[in-house]
Amino acid sequence: MTAFSNPSYIGRFAPTPSGHLHFGSLVAALASYLDARSVGGRWLVRMEDLDPPREMPGAQAAILDALERYGFEWDGELVRQSERHDAYSQVLDRLFSQGLAYACTCSRKQLEGYNGIYPGLCRNAGHSMENAAIRLRVPELEYSVEDRVQGSFRQHLGREAGDFVIRRRDGLYAYQLAVVLDDAWQGVTDIVRGADLLDSTPRQLYLQELLGLSTPCYLHVPLIVQPDGHKLGKSYRSPPLTPEQASPLLLRALRALGQTPDVSLSDASPREILNWGIAHWNAGLIPRTLTLAEAQLR
Ligand code: GLU
Ligand code: ZN
Repeated sequence: MTAFSNPSYIGRFAPTPSGHLHFGSLVAALASYLDARSVGGRWLVRMEDLDPPREMPGAQAAILDALERYGFEWDGELVRQSERHDAYSQVLDRLFSQGLAYACTCSRKQLEGYNGIYPGLCRNAGHSMENAAIRLRVPELEYSVEDRVQGSFRQHLGREAGDFVIRRRDGLYAYQLAVVLDDAWQGVTDIVRGADLLDSTPRQLYLQELLGLSTPCYLHVPLIVQPDGHKLGKSYRSPPLTPEQASPLLLRALRALGQTPDVSLSDASPREILNWGIAHWNAGLIPRTLTLAEAQLR
């Protein structure tokens, strides 16, 4: 453990089982793990299985298996969002009955040309919840987050986000709602994740405020991208994390995070590399950029 100890720290890794873990997920998992363990904190894993149609069969088991083979140990029971629907539904009903959220029956076609910012067509329509998407009414205010790596990030919710969906028309709960409720319910104090989620953070801060939940600390690590700027993922055929590659990929992920693992670690086991990472973790060395090109990493 480093000089600073914070046993009340609770971090988490929250993969979506739409595909295998890839190098970008490894970077995010490693950063959240080391940030938690270096202060003697807890580290949780939560399966964000909100969207069964987009789930890849076998992905949940493959993700957990990859985490174990890469040496990660999590605290407590795995939480699955598919088992949390009652909690989401209670909050959704409350937001709806308080008029903070409303039902939207707009078709995709009707919303073309608005750049994803909902123009408020159903705001005062008084539709019932059935067969409709539920949107959260956002205030005409700027929300800002002091990110530990990315610095200050601000967003005007009305102009840059718009009233956003918290339950889809097909009945599936939205990521924004579930993530806020679960992080609070699990007592998460520190959220370390990929920078693609930085622009979701102001919406999450607003939900926390509405629901009287405390706001965690945020650290967004650079997103690992392809040469064409695309996020790594199954659509860009980024290879799954294989067990044979565990040590070299962990070392590469450490370097992507600005850490400088000893050359002597080149023959080390995943667990030894993680222990080195815990002992030497310095979040101040993480590159302060939103993306890193995978091809340029050593
Ligand atoms: N489930 C999200 C993802 O895989 C991460 C959510 C989060 O860390 O807030 O992209
Ligand atoms: Zn609408």
